[in-house]
Amino acid sequence: MKTYNETLYDAYSQEFVVDKVYFEQKTDHQHLIIFDNAKFGRVMALDGVIQTTEADEFIYHEMLTHVPILTHGHVKRVLIIGGGDGGILREVCKHDGIEHITQVEIDQQVIAMCKAYLPKHSAGAYDDPRVSIVIDDGAHFVRQHQHTYDLIISDSTDPIGPGDALFTSDFYADCKSCLSEGGILVAQNGVAYMQLDEVTTTAKRLQPYFAEQTFYCAAIPTYVGGVMTFAWASDNKKLLDVSVEQIQQRLQLANIQCRYYNAAIHKASFALPQYIINALIEDC
Ligand code: SAM
Repeated sequence: MKTYNETLYDAYSQEFVVDKVYFEQKTDHQHLIIFDNAKFGRVMALDGVIQTTEADEFIYHEMLTHVPILTHGHVKRVLIIGGGDGGILREVCKHDGIEHITQVEIDQQVIAMCKAYLPKHSAGAYDDPRVSIVIDDGAHFVRQHQHTYDLIISDSTDPIGPGDALFTSDFYADCKSCLSEGGILVAQNGVAYMQLDEVTTTAKRLQPYFAEQTFYCAAIPTYVGGVMTFAWASDNKKLLDVSVEQIQQRLQLANIQCRYYNAAIHKASFALPQYIINALIEDC
């Protein structure tokens, strides 16, 4: 029986039974594998770290998109950093009011192989006429940016390898300079119970640039260890006052069917476990 062991943590790992390998190769940037598992369906991993699975990807992709989009209320231009599997792009494209989406992905092979072997993730979103794909390091792209965006979504790997550049102060400062007035930056920021230092480090690096910096969270089964935190940063301190009723109205207007996200979950996701709050008070 072939198995795949995640190597994200030194003293702990999760193991998947591999029923079939669809693709495995060292790309120019990272080791990429896509395989089948009876419980989670098709699974994609990069450099030994589980990135996404067919079975539970909806939680992560709905939360990292609809929360900022429905909070903001009139997002027109979106920048996605990373997100090569296409799940974030799929959910962003569901919002008809969005006029332009740029996705900056460092590894062309991830896009190509996920289109081929994880087709339900992008579900045709790469063909949306509003979408332009740039193959580049996201840190380089925001440093020399030409446009502004109402929303930046950093859907990166963990801060190891190519992903490391997307967790730096310089990257956050450059994202700030790419945002329109009152724009929002959200970013995947690891599983707090397992990577608590990533939460406090991100808070310290974001806070000098944004008036409102916090986190929201959701538990995604294959990001093992409890809730994943999503970093939130904006200069518009009123955004988070949006009511559940307003979110519900906007969701109904958007006419989007979700499997995890709803207005109550949206609001509740900003309630953080006390151990995260304590760490932020102690370290920041
Ligand atoms: N949902 C996953 C998670 O939470 O870990 C992330 C999914 S997505 C596959 C991560 C993407 O970030 C990959 O396609 C990877 O190639 C891309 N990436 C890593 N570093 C990057 C960088 N510096 N610039 C642009 N894309 C990058």
